[in-house]
This record gives sequence, C-alpha cells and structure tokens, in this order.
Amino acid sequence: MDIISLDMGSKKTNCMICGSELEHLNEPVAAACEYCGAEEDGYFICKSGHYVCNGCHSKDALEVIMNVCLNTDSANPNEIAEALMLHPSIHMHGPEHHALVPTVLTTAYLNYIDKDDDDAIIEAMERGKKVPGGHCALYGVCGGATGVGIAVSILTEATPLTAEPRSHAMWSTARTLDVIADSGGARCCKKAVRMSFEEGVKYMSKLFGNNWVDDVDLSVKCTYTKLNTECDPTCKYRA
Ligand SMILES: [Zn+2]
Ligand SMILES: [Zn+2]
Repeated sequence: MDIISLDMGSKKTNCMICGSELEHLNEPVAAACEYCGAEEDGYFICKSGHYVCNGCHSKDALEVIMNVCLNTDSANPNEIAEALMLHPSIHMHGPEHHALVPTVLTTAYLNYIDKDDDDAIIEAMERGKKVPGGHCALYGVCGGATGVGIAVSILTEATPLTAEPRSHAMWSTARTLDVIADSGGARCCKKAVRMSFEEGVKYMSKLFGNNWVDDVDLSVKCTYTKLNTECDPTCKYRA
C-alpha cells in the first residue's frame, strides 16, 4: 500500500487508503475491499484502484454514533449530528450518514419527550446501516430521507400490516426526499442530513402533536465547503 503524505482532509473526502479522488460508476465493477478482502460489485473505486466496502467505510463511525446517541441528553438532532460529523471516522460523504440520520433523529425525539428507549435507538442504527452508499442516485431514494422514514417507523411501531404507521413512514420519507431532490446539486451528505432533520422534526411534530419544531434551533452554517469538491454554490447552508 502506497502511503502518500496527505492531510486528513483528503482522506475525509476521498479514498480512505491513499486520499486520491474516487470514481463514481453507474455500473459496478468487480472489486475487493482493501480492508476485509470482501469481493463484491463496487460503485466507488479510487483512481489508484482501491476499493473499500460499505461495512469497512462505516465501521468506526457506527460505533461513535451509537456511543454518542446512547449517552446524549440533547433533543436537537443538529446539535448531536454536527458534533458527530466532526469526528475523523465520519467522512465527508458516505453510508455512515444513512445510519446517522435515523439513530440521531430517534435519539433526539426520545430525549424531547423524556423517554428512555435504548432498544429503539439500537434498532434505528440496525436499519440505517443497511442502506448502502450512493442510494440516492442508484436507487432513487437518498439514505437521509430513508432515515426519517426509519425513525417514524420505529416511533410509531410500524409494520407492513399497520395501515397508518406504514403510511406515515412513507409520507415522512417522501416529504424529505422531495426537499432533497428539489435542492439539486451533486450529492452532499451534510446537506442531506440537515434537510432530513428539518423535514423529520417538522413531520414528527405534526404527527405527534407537539412543538418540537419550535423548541429546537436547526439553523446551521456549513464549514465543509473546502472539503467538498462538488459543493453546490446555491446550497442554503453555505456560510
Ligand atoms: Zn486509493
Ligand atoms: Zn471491507
């Protein structure tokens, strides 16, 4: 493995192995993960040929997210997430954000209503971490929007047979997805996380009949522009 002297910034954004840019493919190629050796179809290969599987890309991040969520008292999902996203294991983009949204949103809501339910938080993580990278463009549903649906599903105890909770899980995903798609630009996992919380908090406040949306300040000035090669000049979070 060639170790080139690159700052953390390039590894937070690009290839975890060498820091060089990733190629985003619309059709997968056979690849083997540099960390665990798993052989699978890969959509993201760096210019030197390195591939890192979804599990290895997110491993440390998932532990950090879980640890913070099981211990925080904050009822503000942005406050929890913005602190988490500064952690070096959470990259500029990546499927760890798909686990982050439902876990953080479920945690913040439970804190808001002052309810202890670690099982709900663990379940949110279990579902969120299964959503692979590139889900927005490759499957047509941003993993952040799916994360809102997961949180609503867990909090309403939805199953495919519970008519109303099932609809709320899908409506909350759909409302969020609309806003993320309308915002345009290349994928930005930071932007998607923030929009997911705005829509999720709004939806859940209405659904559960409370003032959560008025009680938390979700405004944020982004500090990731320099790390994001594809940063959208019209993004509403740009400082
Ligand atoms: Zn590489
Ligand atoms: Zn791997």
